[in-house]
Formats: sequence, C-alpha cells, structure tokens
Amino acid sequence: MSEPSRRKLVAGNWKMNTTRDSAVELARGTARVVPPKPSPVDVLLCPPFPYLCSVGAVLEGSGVLLGAQNVCCERPGAFTGEVAVDMLTDVGCRFVIVGHSERRHIFGETNHLIQRKVVAAIAGGLDVILCVGEQLAAREANQTEAVLDSQMTGGLTDLDESALGHLTIAYEPCWAIGTGQTATPQQAQEVHLYLRKWLADRYNPGRAQSTRILYGGSVNAKNALELLSEPDVDGALVGGASLKVETFRPIIEAAAAAK
Ligand code: PEP
Repeated sequence: MSEPSRRKLVAGNWKMNTTRDSAVELARGTARVVPPKPSPVDVLLCPPFPYLCSVGAVLEGSGVLLGAQNVCCERPGAFTGEVAVDMLTDVGCRFVIVGHSERRHIFGETNHLIQRKVVAAIAGGLDVILCVGEQLAAREANQTEAVLDSQMTGGLTDLDESALGHLTIAYEPCWAIGTGQTATPQQAQEVHLYLRKWLADRYNPGRAQSTRILYGGSVNAKNALELLSEPDVDGALVGGASLKVETFRPIIEAAAAAK
C-alpha cells in the first residue's frame, strides 16, 4: 500500500559529466519539464560538486531538489580533497547518494566507510540515498540476497529507527548500471520486496512501508513505466538518461503516471 511518504522520486545522477554551462542548461531544462505542483513525483538532481552552487541557483523555487553524489564522514578539518556534510547543506543540498557501486567497486569504499557516511549525513541534516546491488557473478551464483544482506547490515549498523525517515534505498544491480541491460520489472520487484521485508524485520513494518526504494540500472523512456508500476518500486535513480532533458523527461512522466 502506498503511503504519503512514498511519493515517487526520480533522481538524476550526473556522475562526472557536464561543464558549468551545460550543467546550468540541463538544470534549467529539467526544471521546465517537472510537473506543476501539486506533483505526484519528487525530482532530484545530483550534479558534480563544483557545479552544486550554479545548479542550486537555477533550481531555487523550481521544486526540483538538489543533491550530491558523495560526502565525507568526517567533520570539517584536515581531510584534503574531501567535502563535508555541512558544506553540502550550506549550498542547499537536501540529499546525498552514498555507496554507489562506482564508489564501492572503483574507489574501494567498504560497508564500514559507507555506514559512517550514512550516519554523518543524516546527523548533519541530509537525506541519504543508500545504494545496494549485486554484481553479475553474485546473481549467477544465487548470492544476490546474501550480498544485499551484507550491504544493508553493513551500511545501516547503529542507525536507529528515527533516522530511517531520512533514508531512501536504491537497488542498483551492478550488471545493469550503464550497460543498457535492465532488470526486468519482476526481478526488480522481487528484490525490492526482499529489501522491504529486510527493513520490516530489522526495524518494523510501518517504517518498511514508508521507506522509499528506488530502482537504478539503465532506466530509460521505454522501460520506466513498467518498472515504476511495480508495487515496491518507488522511483528511479537514473544515470545516463538524466544527462539530456529529452531522455529524462519521459522517466519523470512515467513516474507521475505510474500507479
Ligand atoms: C547510476 O549511475 O546510478 C545508474 C543507474 O546509471 P545508468 O542509469 O546509466 O545505468
């Protein structure tokens, strides 16, 4: 059953793409196509760090939310090259993506580090999108649930129930990210239901019902409506297709149209 806090969320993860000019242009274009209020869908843009301020200025008053792609778990101080939670809230971020598969697998982020980021971000006033998902070998070896168990347990250790109100989960099977190979709606629904049950067992059924679980992995104009119509798919985390208004817009519209 859909609760008010499970309004659909469509998040664009621009990764390490755009220039300042193209980021501003893309933000402007996206803001123009979001459904008018009251909208049934929340839209979030996560540009690269250097463009957060410029994009934030464009989004002001548009209803489109601003988020970052990563954050440091430490308080401001001597951490060369890192970006603190306070800095993100200072420039208007409401959300941060934590534990994206590219952070885990290219930059070696562990569940322990990811957990510290989740705790620091929520304590500092951000909403977190925690990414989880298995690699192809794990799926083929029937290890999907074991991988998700360890990422959920590792990422959420010591997170109390009240913090869950600031948490969104994104199920992103690694084999579907940027590959053009999407999970079927059935595969996505099966995993989302598993994750919701995990939350119900670990916390409580009410919290599990109100926590948004997004799907990510090659979401596009063609597959969005079917994926987003699954009962436990509460939105999409979109990479490639969020980089052009004409490819992102149909996903936002699909989310608005999905039951
Ligand atoms: C992502 O970066 O989180 C993602 C899902 O990318 P893509 O949509 O390009 O597969």
